[in-house]
Amino acid sequence: MKKFRKEHKGLHTKRSQPPAGLGLFTSVPIKKDAFVIEYGGERITTEEADERGTKYLFDIDKKWTIDGAPRYNKARYINHSCKPNCEAEIDGRRVFIYAKRTIEAGEELSYDYGKEYCKEYVFPHCSCGHCDGKGKLKKRKQKTKTKTKKQK
Ligand SMILES: [Zn+2]
Repeated sequence: MKKFRKEHKGLHTKRSQPPAGLGLFTSVPIKKDAFVIEYGGERITTEEADERGTKYLFDIDKKWTIDGAPRYNKARYINHSCKPNCEAEIDGRRVFIYAKRTIEAGEELSYDYGKEYCKEYVFPHCSCGHCDGKGKLKKRKQKTKTKTKKQK
C-alpha cells in the first residue's frame, strides 16, 4: 500500500440519507480550503475500469481512473451533492479533496461527482437535498417572502 496524505481529523462513516447508504462525516469543524482526504486506490486504465465495473471510480483523465474500492480508501464514502461542501482536485495522478467552505462539526462531506457520472448513475434520483433530483438546484424560499410583502 502506498503512502497517502494524512487525512483531516474527525472523519468517520455514518448512515446517510437513503438511498445513499453510508456517508463520510466530520466530528470537528473543517476550515475552508483545508485538505480533507486523498481519494486513494489503484490506478488503472479507463478501459480496465469499464471491464471491472466497480462502483467506486474516479476518472483522472481520459486514460486513467482510480479504482477506489479498497477498504483503506475512506474517501469512497463521500457522497455526491449538487451543492457540495468539498471539492476534488486532480494533482498529477492523485486526487485530493479539499473543503470548499467552512464545514461544521457533524456535517456530512460531499463533492460534485461531475456531469458525466451523474447523468449515468445519479439522476433522476439525486438525494443530495439541494436539487430536484435531476441536478437543478432548488430555489431559495426568500423569493416567496418578497412576494408576500409586495402583495400587502
Ligand atoms: Zn442533487
